[in-house]
Amino acid sequence: MTPDLVLTEVTLLTPGAAPVAPAFVAIGGERILACGPMAALPPSDAPVLALPGRVVTPGLVNIHTHAVLSLMRGIAVDMGFAPAYTPGVPHGHEIAPEEAEALARLGAMEALLMGSTVMVDSYVHADLTLPAMAGLGLRVWACGRLHDVDFSRVHLADWRHEAAIGAHRLGEVRKLIADFEGSHGGRVHVIVAPHAPDTCSAALLRQAAELARDAGLRTTTHLSQSKLENAQILKRDGCTPAELLARTALLDERLIAAHCIHMTPDDMARFGAAGATVAHVPKGNATGGAIADTPALRGAGANIAIGTDNLTQDMAEQMRWALATARIRLGGVHQDWQPEDAFAMATVNGARALGQQGVLGEVAPGAQADLVVWDFRRAHLTPLLDPLGTLVHDANGRDVEHVWVAGRQVVRDGAPVFADEAAVRAAAQRVSEDLWRRARESVAS
Ligand SMILES: [Zn+2]
Repeated sequence: MTPDLVLTEVTLLTPGAAPVAPAFVAIGGERILACGPMAALPPSDAPVLALPGRVVTPGLVNIHTHAVLSLMRGIAVDMGFAPAYTPGVPHGHEIAPEEAEALARLGAMEALLMGSTVMVDSYVHADLTLPAMAGLGLRVWACGRLHDVDFSRVHLADWRHEAAIGAHRLGEVRKLIADFEGSHGGRVHVIVAPHAPDTCSAALLRQAAELARDAGLRTTTHLSQSKLENAQILKRDGCTPAELLARTALLDERLIAAHCIHMTPDDMARFGAAGATVAHVPKGNATGGAIADTPALRGAGANIAIGTDNLTQDMAEQMRWALATARIRLGGVHQDWQPEDAFAMATVNGARALGQQGVLGEVAPGAQADLVVWDFRRAHLTPLLDPLGTLVHDANGRDVEHVWVAGRQVVRDGAPVFADEAAVRAAAQRVSEDLWRRARESVAS
């Protein structure tokens, strides 16, 4: 097969392998046909894009996001550990469908411009946000926020569960599966997303596990994000949140659990033995004053992947926060927490969490052609001696020049191919101003 395009003269970085330079990557259809040193490039008539001074990596897998919560930028992070639990901020039930859609488009555009080719996203109005995000060209695993608590009172630490709310939300997830699972050329999937142990009754968690199993889907939730959640589950169910997930059949290798901060050694052992994935949010958690014990979680057998949550969707930055927070736990630089470990968390570990080993998260023949080109011809990335160390410690999302997803270019010269960047920003600015004005008025009244 003749390639559709060959990237040449690049430095190639893929997890688990030494950098190759100068290297080529040949794209054919959705896949990588071949890659390796320039000397091994077979002769062909294929179009060539020479990219000296650039580093090519797999698309990054952002394992935990709420694109709509771009809305919180610069404000909510200084108010509480998560917007849903924080008084005085706009809440999910107050966001209109078209507002969610505009904000989701901003979040997806930001993620893509910074090199994420996969987002695992959950929040409100997923019937609109999912196609809006997918329209930018990236891969999306998404779901509406599944809960049976009355979310208009959670920020007051008042959990009122109503079966009717849960039934309604489950119906929305079923419809999302019918409408979107496997759509957009296979780039879009539904992930069943019970919001958190404290916002879902045990009965609803069980129903979510059943739905995911019957439909063959992955699951995601927040887990032991705060001491507040742990205390509520102890009071309500008499156990830890991780024990509750085990009891309700959610704790298995299909589960992606965000945060995992306040876990006991028994919780971690149970979680690791199940082969579940931690959606580690190192920057968000540290900014909130907490650090997940990732060395212990990994030691227990957990798969660690990285997400940006509702903060800046810069996965390069998150990789170094993942190293920094683990090393703070360990008390120093450690051989098990090196750039290759953080790089794996942002790529292959995320792919594994989604059941996409060998398909996503690596640059290899036969894998999907999800590729990120980083422009290293910059002062802060010079000298280029160790491309992986420099990527993890010094690069940032703004260094991304081009992105391909499934062999299709979706970012060109730092701009989105399938969106009008200025229009997306303007719409998000408008709805954010309005949502914050309404939130402040409701606090004042
Ligand atoms: Zn979250």
